[in-house]
Amino acid sequence: MSAKSLPVEKNQMVELTFEDLTHDGAGVAKINGFPVFVPRALPGETGDVKIINVKKKFAIGRLMEIKQESEDRIEPPCPIFKQCGGCQLQHLTYEGQLRHKEKHVREVLARIGGLTSVDVHPVLGMDKPWRYRNKAQVPVGEEEGGLIAGFFAERSHRIVDMKGCDIQHIENDNVVQVVKNLAMKYGVRGYDDKTHKGTLRHVVTRHGKVTGELMVVLVTKGKELPNKKNLVREIQESLPNVKSIIQNINPSRTNVIFGEKTEVLWGEEVIHDYIGDIKFAISARSFYQVNPDQTKVLYDKALEYAQLTGKETVIDAYCGIGTISLFLAQKAKHVYGVEIVPEAIADAKKNARLNGFENVDFAVGEAEKVFPWWYAQGVRPEVIVVDPPRKGCDESLLETIVNMNPDRVVYVSCNPATLARDLKYLDEHGYETKEVQPVDMFPHTTHVECVAVIERKL
Ligand code: SAH
Repeated sequence: MSAKSLPVEKNQMVELTFEDLTHDGAGVAKINGFPVFVPRALPGETGDVKIINVKKKFAIGRLMEIKQESEDRIEPPCPIFKQCGGCQLQHLTYEGQLRHKEKHVREVLARIGGLTSVDVHPVLGMDKPWRYRNKAQVPVGEEEGGLIAGFFAERSHRIVDMKGCDIQHIENDNVVQVVKNLAMKYGVRGYDDKTHKGTLRHVVTRHGKVTGELMVVLVTKGKELPNKKNLVREIQESLPNVKSIIQNINPSRTNVIFGEKTEVLWGEEVIHDYIGDIKFAISARSFYQVNPDQTKVLYDKALEYAQLTGKETVIDAYCGIGTISLFLAQKAKHVYGVEIVPEAIADAKKNARLNGFENVDFAVGEAEKVFPWWYAQGVRPEVIVVDPPRKGCDESLLETIVNMNPDRVVYVSCNPATLARDLKYLDEHGYETKEVQPVDMFPHTTHVECVAVIERKL
């Protein structure tokens, strides 16, 4: 289509009726088949839209006024919902969010995976979908001489200062305010990512839901942290549940939060938490699911899908600190876990000892490299569990999985698109996806977690 034939132009006002939501929560309307994406518009609504960006295949608009409101629309409880990029769906009822996520999973599995007849269950949601996060990673900056701490505005690096965040555990909110105020008191400068100047880049806080333990991580640009001793002492005094105060140094110009160097300023290197009856040690840089209540739901489902009897050898790929591995080890003969972050594997080994498991082995490395090695050693698991990051599994890993010939694969996924791609591979190589259970780990955001069970065809 030439630029001239596009149906809208920048700054034009149009009245649109929305028919769908994108995977990132924007309303979709069409003008003669040409899609316009409008954040915070809902299907069924009609509204006045200002076109703010026109591309070859779509345009982006801003919702100026709603003329016909969806029954699913609610007033977002968070006062900075419109500015902050953290949540995308607070204007949609929770039931509406769950319906949207289920539909999204179904559509993606069909479109990318060609899986049109697989059983996709309704999303398992939360009874109380607020204050669920056990971890906050909050950027720190400066505004008019003072420190600000809050999430980035949507698609930008502008910090929206916040007093609190309704999806965070209240203790994490408290930590952020305490650290911000103390940093200001002791003259610690906020970081400016444009000029790469300043000291404090992020406050990262972790809370053990069951133990109540708190970890505070100060991510700084360099080693230097003004008034370090006083700062650490006052953090301790202000936060009685703090068990670990850590400094992480990140000197790079990067969006990645953590740098390579981590130093314990006070207390322990880890905090502890429980999922079910299993106790976990968690260090600053290890992955640990952020929604502890729903993690139990997710892992129980993974365990159910694994159908263990006690005789099986199981591999848990992308095992983090061994959370799923130890869940599986309760019911398997032997579990092998593999994970790329060395600190996470150190935690995993600690966690196996902490809970008295002797039927587990952990390896550091890329799953796609360690699997062929295990295969060469004669490891032949009956069940393989994978829980990869958003980009999904490397194709060579899927190839080795097929060669290992397990009875079933349990796939835990935080990205339906790569899940669909990988399920397609398995379905084309002698396996069949039986069921997919979406779990809402991230209410009010567009993210959705899924667990799928895939069985070898007879
Ligand atoms: N199963 C764990 C962690 C899942 S998150 C849990 O539920 O807690 C995904 C994990 O994969 C992260 O810990 C990440 O460090 C790890 N990872 C990323 N790429 C990897 C790779 N190529 N091989 C092995 N692990 C990888």
